[in-house]
Order: sequence, then C-alpha cells, then structure tokens
Amino acid sequence: MAGEPQDDCLFCKIIAGHVPATIVRETETTVAFRDINPQAPTHVLVIPRAHYPNAAELAAAAPELAADVLHETKAVADEEKLDSYRVVFNTGPGAGQTVFHAHAHVLGGRGLQWPPG
Ligand code: IMP
Repeated sequence: MAGEPQDDCLFCKIIAGHVPATIVRETETTVAFRDINPQAPTHVLVIPRAHYPNAAELAAAAPELAADVLHETKAVADEEKLDSYRVVFNTGPGAGQTVFHAHAHVLGGRGLQWPPG
C-alpha cells in the first residue's frame, strides 16, 4: 500500500533504526540525517517517514507530507546556519536518483555552481 515501509528500502531501514545514520532532526512525519557521501560541508537528507519512491509520487499522493519535507529543509538550513543553500529532489534514475525513497538533499556551506551537471 502507498506509504507503507518497504523491506528492501535503505531509508526505511534508517527510519526503523536497522541501519545507522547521523540523525540531525526528527518530526512526527520526517527524519533528517547526514548524507554518507557529502558533496558539501552541509549535506543533509530529509525524508518522509512514509515510503514513496520519489518526490513526484510523494507530491501526488501526499501533498501535505511533501510540504512537511520542504518545511524541514528550512529547519535544517536554520540549524546549520546556512544563509544560502540548495534543495534538490533527484527524481528518476536519469536525474541521478539512486535511493528510491523520496528525499530532499540540503546542500550548503560552500559556493554552488549553476547549472548542475
Ligand atoms: P540520490 O542519488 O538523489 O538518490 O541520493 C541518495 C543519497 O543517499 C546519496 O547522496 C548517497 O550518498 C546517500 N546515501 C546512501 N546510503 C546512505 C546511508 O546509508 N546513509 C546516508 N546517506 C546515504
């Protein structure tokens, strides 16, 4: 069923505490943790506790939860004292998505180029 935890999902395992992660924030509906392969001095992933395979499916099926994720990206940026930062939702393998549980990357702490590769 949409939103249910998936046994084969890495981020569902992090939410369940079965895979370790450096968690920086938790809410009733979201978890934020440091990326294991940081691409900037701050690189935090914000995920919904409920499983949706990507941001498009999250936004379509659960727009209030998508808003919670976006709200938490700002909370992470505030905690990390970032005045400039980038929020990225890689959506689909062609855009670089490798973990198929919707997540926002919060990147900051250095200058960021545009356009991304
Ligand atoms: P994607 O490529 O947009 O799907 O982002 C997935 C992100 O998850 C990548 O930046 C990975 O470095 C990160 N990642 C993969 N495994 C772990 C982990 O176990 N803990 C934290 N981050 C992870």
